[in-house]
Amino acid sequence: MLTLPNDIKSFLDSFQKKGYKIYVVGGPVRDMLLGKPITNWDFATDATPEKILKLFPEGFYNNQFGTVGISLQEGMLLEVTTFRKEGNYKDARHPDKIEWAKTIEEDLARRDFTINAMAYDGKKIVDLYRGQEDLAKKSIRAVGDPDKRFSEDALRLMRAIRLASELGFLIEDNTRTSIQKKAQLITKISWERIRDELLKILASANPSEGILFLRNTGLLTFILPELDICFIIPQKSPKRHHIFDVGTHLVMSLKHCPSKDTITRLASLLHDIGKSKTFRRDESTGLITFYNHEVVGTQMVEKIADRFRFSGKQKEKLVRLVQYHQFTVSELQTDKAVRRFIRNVGKEYLLDILDLRYSDRVGSGAAPTSWRYELFKKRLDEVQKEPFSISDLKIDGNDVMKILQLKPGPQVGNVLKSIFNDVEEGRVKNEKEVLLKKLGEFKVSSLK
Ligand code: ATP
Ligand code: MG
Repeated sequence: MLTLPNDIKSFLDSFQKKGYKIYVVGGPVRDMLLGKPITNWDFATDATPEKILKLFPEGFYNNQFGTVGISLQEGMLLEVTTFRKEGNYKDARHPDKIEWAKTIEEDLARRDFTINAMAYDGKKIVDLYRGQEDLAKKSIRAVGDPDKRFSEDALRLMRAIRLASELGFLIEDNTRTSIQKKAQLITKISWERIRDELLKILASANPSEGILFLRNTGLLTFILPELDICFIIPQKSPKRHHIFDVGTHLVMSLKHCPSKDTITRLASLLHDIGKSKTFRRDESTGLITFYNHEVVGTQMVEKIADRFRFSGKQKEKLVRLVQYHQFTVSELQTDKAVRRFIRNVGKEYLLDILDLRYSDRVGSGAAPTSWRYELFKKRLDEVQKEPFSISDLKIDGNDVMKILQLKPGPQVGNVLKSIFNDVEEGRVKNEKEVLLKKLGEFKVSSLK
């Protein structure tokens, strides 16, 4: 017996009182059995959308999927779909037509994996495909014939791997073999839908396992060929610290990425992809180099971001992180150089690029941190306390115009720039009195 929250119980009641059948179905049944908290409640019923709307006039009908959405309270959406069966699939994507079904059994038969094909009406669990057994075995298994199911809808190829990474499950042998066989069908699926599944894999509890599943099933060649090829690029060579090939290093970096942000995780996974195109081995010394791999890698992730139809912001972040991942943390750097680094990466991505550095180190088998890295983090903080741009100066254009008797114009800015330069180089302190005095002594003619 599963215990439903009271408002869900009374929701089921309001259908059952009118003589309709209604079940909690799919994800929430699976998650309840796993003892996980439920955020999305999905239901299947024999009531048609019109009948559902009669019961809940405040619901809204999504025509494309035949689903009625009802928000019970703030932030809690219930989605009710009339029992369906699916007609023929022609292009490994959409069923040609969706038909209403009479029974929950027909509805469960169209679902993808056994652990997603269970229903609960408040009294008993309907489990026609041994979903509970597979949950206990931690196994993702297709409902029915896997070849047929993946040919019907190729998005399921990625859903299997996404579920496995979210739940920490393995994919059952026949289902996995079938994914390998059908991998190429993923090319029928839009990049937006592939992206959504990929980002869910990255956000999951086991992102690096997910990427290895993609690789081992052959899906990665179609989704991220630039990464797939990295697994045959060696980097072990004399005088180098590397112990892994590039692909393994990247997956290990992802595994150790301390950030929960999916783009930062993706950047950890892709930061060295430029190495596949910059690989050189010196024949006489055996030394392997990857000169400018971050430059080449930057161009590659720009293309990847476009392919996945990333938002402008997502693209910017991914590109910046990859572009500047080679930053130095030497204590010999000047404050000016540290400031330039901050400006290049952007203040908002600083923590992310530090996370990326951590991933990179641990993903190469090195210790998580070093004194240089810790010192650099402190300096980033300190440098940011100092004036960072002209607008942080304790004097402004009005002071300049008053004291030097200047009219508004480019000269005012140039004076400020020159003063800022003195502050940045540490020649004068950023204090109002000090700067006003400095202004008094300023010779406008000294400006170039
Ligand atoms: P979550 O919402 O936690 O990601 P979920 O299992 O609810 O997991 P949804 O994408 O919301 O996933 O799908 C709801 C249900 O619809 C699934 O549990 C499954 O039964 C069914 N389903 C979703 N996509 C497919 C598909 N491509 N083929 C067959 N059945 C599917
Ligand atoms: Mg769901």
